[in-house]
Amino acid sequence: MPEPAPAILIVEDHEETRCLLKNTLSAEGYVVEEAQDLAGARRSIRASKPALIVLDVGLPDGSGVDLCREIRADPALSLTPVVMLSGRGRIDQKGEGFAAGADQYLVKPVKPRELLLWVRALLRRLKLDAVDSELIEAGDLLIDVRSHLLRFQEHTISNLTPKEFDLLVFLVTKRPELFSRQQILSKVWHTVAVPNTVDMHLHHLRGKLPGELALRIQSVPGKGFRYFG
Ligand code: CA
Repeated sequence: MPEPAPAILIVEDHEETRCLLKNTLSAEGYVVEEAQDLAGARRSIRASKPALIVLDVGLPDGSGVDLCREIRADPALSLTPVVMLSGRGRIDQKGEGFAAGADQYLVKPVKPRELLLWVRALLRRLKLDAVDSELIEAGDLLIDVRSHLLRFQEHTISNLTPKEFDLLVFLVTKRPELFSRQQILSKVWHTVAVPNTVDMHLHHLRGKLPGELALRIQSVPGKGFRYFG
């Protein structure tokens, strides 16, 4: 199955600029969503988490710099690349954008091809990071290994113990392979302990996950466990 095209949100109140950027990115196969102000951008981000956000600074209902700070403060969005656009090109103004968490700051007038190059580069880096196993993606489950956060559909899960987290990461990365209790003990605990340890941790782990995700950790009687989903 081909990967779905990444969705890019363009937040820009200047219609001509917005359309120009949208057309350039759409022509390259990206799915583009548009917002004209902060309120529209927040709605769009909540409704469908974009893969990348192009964010104008001067918006009718406030500053894109503030929205960028909000995005960075949200664990579910902290890694989403943000390309900031602004007519303000002084070093201190750019510094403010980067300090708020922008990945790139382009001074207007923006050349659409230049934006495209940055979009490609930032999305590629995100993918490379994932391969570098800081981000593990398994369908609608995203595991951030560095911050020990899980994102599943609209849920963010951050309360797993280190062993519960390791156990889930092990099963997810090896999916849909089936492992016995002893195998899990030697791979995750690196020890031969009481096999009951695995059951106990799995029980607690399932209890902390949204129902649909918990069901993906399957027990196969007499054989062991696997992540299937
Ligand atoms: Ca503007």
